[in-house]
This record gives sequence, structure tokens and C-alpha cells, in this order.
Amino acid sequence: MRRLFYGGLLADTVAITGEDAHHLMHSCRARLGDRLTVVDDRGQVALMEMIGFSNEQVTLKLIEPLPGDTESPMEIILAPCLLKGDKLDLVVQKAVELGAVGVMPLVSQNSVPILNEKKRQGRQERWQKIADEAAKQCGRQKRLVVSAVTSLTDFLRRRQETSDSTLLFCYENETAHALKERLGELTSSRIFLLVGPEGGFTLPEAAAIEEGGGQSVTLGKRILRAETAALAIMSIVQYELGDLG
Ligand code: SAH
Repeated sequence: MRRLFYGGLLADTVAITGEDAHHLMHSCRARLGDRLTVVDDRGQVALMEMIGFSNEQVTLKLIEPLPGDTESPMEIILAPCLLKGDKLDLVVQKAVELGAVGVMPLVSQNSVPILNEKKRQGRQERWQKIADEAAKQCGRQKRLVVSAVTSLTDFLRRRQETSDSTLLFCYENETAHALKERLGELTSSRIFLLVGPEGGFTLPEAAAIEEGGGQSVTLGKRILRAETAALAIMSIVQYELGDLG
């Protein structure tokens, strides 16, 4: 069944415009009477039927609300440092499948790609598209939001200013604190997962992250590639909290 994210609230009839309408009419060659699953801004899900096509608008009629249960109880925001090439594309796609609600790409000292403002914006748009496609494919009820590329320093400051959350950072020099132990001590339902770039975090960065409330965790004795570390920590967190398996 086709899945559509509607940027408003579900009602008896809903008008779809813009790119989504264009996509339905032209790329998918939808016909009157076709049905699709619609997810609204609040994560409510419904079966809807196409009852009207006008110039660039598709009108949908609500058939029945559907139960929605594909979201994780934990609000997970992945904060990966920029990686070489298109490696973050994969990380964004998998973050959606594994149930994260946000990805905040960060610039740290050792992150290799140097992106000017225009390129940053282009990347953000590309990652958001990847995230939206993945959300439709895997049956999410919420859009994963990809934030604008920001510096590690700004990220730390902004996280401290927002309400209650936990910050865990993958640190290959950490030997004592296992992820399981940290998860056993969780008190908030929002968790930020910070992963370094190919060259890792510098010592001053690791100190600043700890000062900013970050708790370092080890993912074992081997050094993982940054993208592996990102996928591993999300999978482990979801498994431990009962969302996977
Ligand atoms: N500093 C290293 C490797 C960095 S690995 C070097 O250049 O040799 C890239 C990122 O993956 C790290 O910054 C860290 O966030 C994560 N990572 C890799 N292996 C890890 C492990 N065993 N435990 C925790 N985090 C790890």
C-alpha cells in the first residue's frame, strides 16, 4: 500500500498539493478510487481513498483510521560527525529504519568534508529526501527530521539548553563504561547518540563533550568504522529498550 506523509492533521477529506500531488498523479499514475495509507503530522494513521484530481491537487477521503504502532517509545536523535563521500546517506537511511526521530550532522575537528553553506544546504535536502523515502518504505508514522549541519560546540550548547535528555557518545578510548550499563541508568525518554568522524574525536573534544554532560560508552574492543558504530549503537539501544526483536 502506498504511504503518504501529510503535513497537517487528518480530517474527513484532505487536499494534497505540491510535490506529493504531482508525484501521485504523474509518477504513480494514481486513479480515482485508489487507496493509500496517510500519516499526519501527529503520527495518526488512516486508510484514505482518492476521490478527486484537479489541476495540481488530489482530494482524499478518509475510509478508516488505522492503528499505529511502529514508533519507538524512546526518542532517539543520532548526531554523527560528517563522513567522507556519501557514507552518511546510508547512516540516515538506517537511522529511519531503526526508529530514530532525528539526525543532526555535525562538524568536528577531524571531520574531513569541508562544506560551504550552499553545499551544506544541498546535503541536508538530500538527506531529508533519503529519510522520507525510507520512512515510507519501512512504515514509520513519524518523519525523521534531518537538521542543518552544525558544529559540535553549538550542538553541545543547544542540547544543554533544551529539556531533559541523555547524551551518550561513542568513544573508542573508553574502556570502563559499557553501553548496557549506561542504558540501565537512563532517566529521560530522549537520548542523543553522538558518533565521531573517521579520525575520531580529539582529546579536547572528548573533554568538552563530557563537560557538556556527555557520557562516553565503549562498543567493544575493536575499532569500528564510524558508520558501523552509528548503526551498532542505534541497534543496541533499541534492542535493550525493547523496541527491536
Ligand atoms: N580514532 C580512531 C578511530 C575512530 S573510529 C582512529 O583514527 O584510529 C570513528 C568513530 O566511531 C569514533 O569516533 C567513535 O565515535 C566510534 N567508535 C569506533 N569504534 C568504537 C568502539 N570500539 N567503541 C566506541 N566507539 C567507537
